[in-house]
Amino acid sequence: KLAMKELGKYFKYEDGDIWFVETDRNNMKLEYRAKELISSVKSPFQQIDIVDLYDFGKCLVLDGAIQSTVLDGHIYNEMISHIPIVTHDNPQDVLIIGGGDCGVANEVLKYEEVKKVDFVEIDELVVKECVEHIPEIAGTTSQDNRVNFIFTDGVKFVEDKKNLYDVILVDSSDPVGPAVQLFSREFYQNAKNCLKEDGIMVCQSQSPLFNKDILRNTHKILNELYPIVRTYYAIVPSYPGGIWSFTLASLKNDPLEVDVMKLKTNTKYINEGVFQSCFKLPNMFKYVLE
Ligand code: SAM
Repeated sequence: KLAMKELGKYFKYEDGDIWFVETDRNNMKLEYRAKELISSVKSPFQQIDIVDLYDFGKCLVLDGAIQSTVLDGHIYNEMISHIPIVTHDNPQDVLIIGGGDCGVANEVLKYEEVKKVDFVEIDELVVKECVEHIPEIAGTTSQDNRVNFIFTDGVKFVEDKKNLYDVILVDSSDPVGPAVQLFSREFYQNAKNCLKEDGIMVCQSQSPLFNKDILRNTHKILNELYPIVRTYYAIVPSYPGGIWSFTLASLKNDPLEVDVMKLKTNTKYINEGVFQSCFKLPNMFKYVLE
């Protein structure tokens, strides 16, 4: 346990309690009562805090922004991974870009068809911290011999590769710092080149309430590159606004036409009904995408 004086700039004491103050947004500060700050380290890329919150449980915080919590991290992790894996006919080779908490990899590895996961994360320390302190999210990823950890910039990694992957999952942080380029046209074009001819890519495309431009832009770029583009959503209480978008781009199969019976049942959020209904977008999405 860290002593009081070691709490970083995202924490404060009030009436004997520790509060985590999420400050990554300009116009909002969200405060969460914490049981303890479990670990706090600085990597060459970012400030990495693991904090145990009263309502959300343990969570990973990067530069003051919540990335994944034990209470609701599975919602995001299941939605970004099961949908493309089930949509692909034979998802043997998977590339994950980002995803340092290992939660997305842990979901992908539930499918026996998956033979190899190249896990490209810029910050080795995020993986180390999550494997050590949040096994509830990281699962058994680090012991699975199908996983090949590559600690490098995902933007550079995709620059010179062709026809290697069935599914690419871009589990990126918000578009700040090293993640900015993961939302660029050039990156999406290079990632497409890494896919085999029936490949599928999914990225998180942020909040339809607070990041309309990113959602719109992602959809526009991917529509120019792929024959099939589907936006879907999930409710993730620990993300700003609570509603989160994903954009799937596919070279062959359409998630609206797949056999959802292939979906694994050892999940906490996604099921056949969620798979089918998540593409039925509330009007506010349509206004952004039109
Ligand atoms: N589920 C989360 C969310 O939407 O907030 C994302 C979680 S995951 C922890 C994001 C990861 O992307 C971080 O560990 C960060 O280090 C990594 N990352 C950021 N930019 C990257 C890049 N250019 N290449 C590879 N990984 C990157």
